[in-house]
Amino acid sequence: MAKAFIGFGGNLGDTRQIITDAIVCLALRNQLQIIQKSCFYQSAPVDAAGGDYINSVVHVETELSPYGLLHVCQTIEQQFGRERPYENAPRTLDLDILFFEGVAQGDTELTLPHPRITERSFVLLPLLEIAPDFFLPEFGELKQYLPKVAHQRIEKLACRNCSCEEKPQYRPSAH
Ligand code: ADP
Ligand code: MG
Repeated sequence: MAKAFIGFGGNLGDTRQIITDAIVCLALRNQLQIIQKSCFYQSAPVDAAGGDYINSVVHVETELSPYGLLHVCQTIEQQFGRERPYENAPRTLDLDILFFEGVAQGDTELTLPHPRITERSFVLLPLLEIAPDFFLPEFGELKQYLPKVAHQRIEKLACRNCSCEEKPQYRPSAH
């Protein structure tokens, strides 16, 4: 099983509901388990048109290959009506693979780690929320990049979240 992190974003429609539904779609996939999800964040568009974005990051473990995971992500984008009329156009749903354990490559179809991971507050904040000590060999500790994105407007939205560590252990009853 490989560990991967996926960034979700959108700024068309009811994005919080769309991302919530998309995470359920992801969870229903074979060969993939969701380990953790961040809260939602509301961010100003960066180099893009349209209204504010809603973003979240999800940690998964998967038996899929990196391209298998990309295919799953693109299928889910399509299910939620993703269109690409022009570069950086407003979108109902964008899924980007931010990191895939053990893979570093520059293929334009799938660049890993994601090339803008350290440059966007809407990636760094939700990612560091669920993985505070995230370290990338090419970049070092990700938290050191927070000051560089401090000017990018972003707000963490109120949320409830679950923690896998708190799941009670199943103990068969004596009866
Ligand atoms: P954006 O760069 O705004 O996310 P798109 O979602 O339209 O734009 O993606 C453009 C292309 O980026 C896709 O065709 C996809 O193959 C490619 N791509 C390259 N690296 C990645 C990655 N790490 N995660 C997702 N898509 C990627
Ligand atoms: Mg994308």
